[in-house]
Amino acid sequence: MRKICILGSTGSIGTQTLDIIKRHGGFEVYSLAAGSNIDLLEKQIREFEPRRVCVFDEERANELKVRIADTSVAVLAGMDGLIALASDPGNDLVVTAIVGMIGIRPTIAAIEAGCDVALANKETLVAAGHIIMPLVAEKKVRLLPIDSEHSAIFQCLQGHNGPDGSYPVDAGRMEIDKILLTASGGPFRGMSYEELKGKTAADALKHPNWSMGRKITIDSASMVNKALEVMEARWLFGVEPDNIEVVIQPRSIIHSAVQFRDGAIIAQMGCPDMRLPIQYALYYPDRMECPAEKLDLFELACIDFERPDYNTFKGLALGLEAIRTGGSMCTVFNAANEYAVARFLEGRIGFTGIYDIIEACMRAHKNIACPDLTEILETEAWAYEYASKMVL
Ligand code: NAD
Ligand code: MG
Repeated sequence: MRKICILGSTGSIGTQTLDIIKRHGGFEVYSLAAGSNIDLLEKQIREFEPRRVCVFDEERANELKVRIADTSVAVLAGMDGLIALASDPGNDLVVTAIVGMIGIRPTIAAIEAGCDVALANKETLVAAGHIIMPLVAEKKVRLLPIDSEHSAIFQCLQGHNGPDGSYPVDAGRMEIDKILLTASGGPFRGMSYEELKGKTAADALKHPNWSMGRKITIDSASMVNKALEVMEARWLFGVEPDNIEVVIQPRSIIHSAVQFRDGAIIAQMGCPDMRLPIQYALYYPDRMECPAEKLDLFELACIDFERPDYNTFKGLALGLEAIRTGGSMCTVFNAANEYAVARFLEGRIGFTGIYDIIEACMRAHKNIACPDLTEILETEAWAYEYASKMVL
């Protein structure tokens, strides 16, 4: 039995991770963490009997302590609690399913403690990939992608890794020509920039193919998610951003592909269901039965491709600009987006206001070429402060 710590256990990825563990076993649920949803966390505690849990919100953590006083489960709180769970020497695998840059310090703590990480929390790599990837190599841990596109790329590279499945891969040795990162285009595909202006949170939350948490669903509608995923892929697979091409494939059947130097393209296909990439990360390199629907090629009949529309989806263009600039600009892009999406969900700004806030923060930022962790967190705070001045 491997011991697993799930940070963000009450979210979309977290609950599906627990479902997969229930189905296939092989893991002791060692610890769980959530932001504030103690109703669901209490249910998970009673079902999976972890040794420790963390609730980020201190008041809610105290409330939970009272509710589960009949158990021996320890309740921690705040960032210290998250770091304590992530860096527990008993862990065999830490699943980072928290949303946002708040995941950076716990992820680094897990790797420093020598623990394998299954990573859903892409914002962490976006801001701190240049710190995390060398640490992964130094500590000789595995960083297993959960994001469906990155899991697809990882699957396409199997057999091209070292004989031990060593990871991360070395792009030079792997003879990768380019990564073809697929995107559905979201609910607003085909629309003009003008049409995006009137879109509400309810419109943007209707993703055509995937059911996910609210923040990533908005990021998919704005296509900021795809820019974050280019940054994520660049760090995970060691490829230059110019060798990553975004391809619109509206039905989300091809989850991404790799084109090799000889022109061969290897793609991973399947019905859009996160349980497959989650399961692949948990049980890698084994393949087990998956509850997801199986793809019927005759029913599918055809697959369409389009180029992304960078004029309408300005967030994608700004993200690619941030990647080219590098350094702390990726943190600014991400932090400004996190702030703007939260305000959009509150109904305080319009949909294209997300792009306006990201752009204004990027234009005002003095880039730091290779920020350390303190500088990343300071940049995040600066971007929040700057962005907040744009919202009445
Ligand atoms: P979600 O909103 O459904 O869940 C987020 C989880 O994080 C919840 O358990 C919440 O309690 C927890 N959380 C939030 N703030 C916290 C804090 N400060 N401390 C501790 N826990 C906190 O989000 P999600 O859709 O599951 O996404 C999680 C991550 O996975 C994101 O980075 C997202 O981009 C990535 N991801 C999600 C999907 C998907 O299908 N949902 C796909 C690919 C990648
Ligand atoms: Mg994805």
